[in-house]
Amino acid sequence: MVVAACSGPATTVQCAMNPLKYLLAYPADLQAQVRRIMEAKGLAAFLRDKYPVAHGIRSDRALFQYVSGLKGEYLRNAEPVDKVLFDSKIHAVKHALGLHTAHSRVQGSRLKASHEIRIASVFKDSPPEFLRMIAVHELAHLKERQHDKAFYKLCSHMDPEYHQLEFDVRLYLTHLDLSGERLWAGDGSRNTTE
Ligand SMILES: [Zn+2]
Repeated sequence: MVVAACSGPATTVQCAMNPLKYLLAYPADLQAQVRRIMEAKGLAAFLRDKYPVAHGIRSDRALFQYVSGLKGEYLRNAEPVDKVLFDSKIHAVKHALGLHTAHSRVQGSRLKASHEIRIASVFKDSPPEFLRMIAVHELAHLKERQHDKAFYKLCSHMDPEYHQLEFDVRLYLTHLDLSGERLWAGDGSRNTTE
């Protein structure tokens, strides 16, 4: 659990998912697979075919309800999440996709922890699967601070497709990095360009 005294700096877990470095961590055969996709139909067509529809979560309030629902399902006993929001600055400034911040303050005789989750606004216009992946990732930081085995085990417990989805999210980031073209409109329609 990540807690810091309220007088000191809050503890922030920054999820380093830099699209530039991103596929380098994967084995060579997976990278070859990505190159084959890029040469064949291209990343945009591949991703649109696999994930045809955007989710309809348009506000921070709806996002909070969504993340709270996931937490209630899988992490009922973890400390509560006080705030959840889309943040347009995360990606550009911190080279991260999500942030989980925890701080503690004294309330009466007790130490009360509070948690805040910020999700990069690129996920506001994305398929429901991608939003779920980042929500699961940030929620897992309620229990596991590091990106270690226990952390990914918890992510996979919350979403059995977690690893595939993280890979596909990275494909999308690679696509965005190369072309800048967003593939989903984010209002439930198919996408922005078709
Ligand atoms: Zn993380």
